[in-house]
Amino acid sequence: MDSLAAGGSVIDPKAFRRVMGSFATGVAVVTTSRDGEQFGMTVNSLTSVSLEPLIVLICVVKGSRTGLAIRDRGRFAVNLLNSEQEEISRRFVSREQRSFRRQDASDNVWGVPLMEGALASLVCDVHLVQEIGDHDVVYGRVLHCDSSEGKPLLYWRGAYSALGDWAPVNP
Ligand SMILES: Cc1cc2nc3c(=O)[nH]c(=O)nc-3n(C[C@H](O)[C@H](O)[C@H](O)COP(=O)(O)OP(=O)(O)OC[C@H]3O[C@@H](n4cnc5c(N)ncnc54)[C@H](O)[C@@H]3O)c2cc1C
Repeated sequence: MDSLAAGGSVIDPKAFRRVMGSFATGVAVVTTSRDGEQFGMTVNSLTSVSLEPLIVLICVVKGSRTGLAIRDRGRFAVNLLNSEQEEISRRFVSREQRSFRRQDASDNVWGVPLMEGALASLVCDVHLVQEIGDHDVVYGRVLHCDSSEGKPLLYWRGAYSALGDWAPVNP
């Protein structure tokens, strides 16, 4: 199926996906809890939007259970996965396999699941939700952030990857 681009030209969605898949990203699991139930989904659409105030955004496919729970609850956590956490990423993509294990997340004052061993995490309150096309853009105002040592889990051209022996040139 082809899509009509703004200029009137026709773009093959597969070509669009290939192009966007060339943009290497980290991987995060976005979590929330509502009425005692925990929700989580794997995302790579995380973007830093503003420093004053601190705002991030994620894009969530319409109809997503986790997205609806985030909107209802008004709060979510973004857990940036480290290179050892590919299994967690895979688990939070698949509706069939999705479940929190006891060791995944700890109780905390924010009341949303923070994944144990994550490379970094944010806790956000929902600031704004914009419905755009087939996704909702969820803007989160950052309440808390934390980071630890380790290397990120990467996603590039439809596959998981890692930094290998890479080390920062100017740490
Ligand atoms: C590296 C990576 C990055 C990703 N990044 C993103 C991202 O940034 N944003 C994003 O939205 N997704 C992203 N995904 C995909 C996302 O992780 C999965 O779609 C995941 O299942 C969404 O979780 P959910 O809680 O929304 O699931 P679900 O509630 O299962 O919803 C997922 C999709 O299934 C549909 N659906 C729900 N229930 C039913 C049903 N009963 N019958 C038929 N269809 C149904 C929903 O409408 C939605 O389109 C990414 C996946 C990977 C591997």
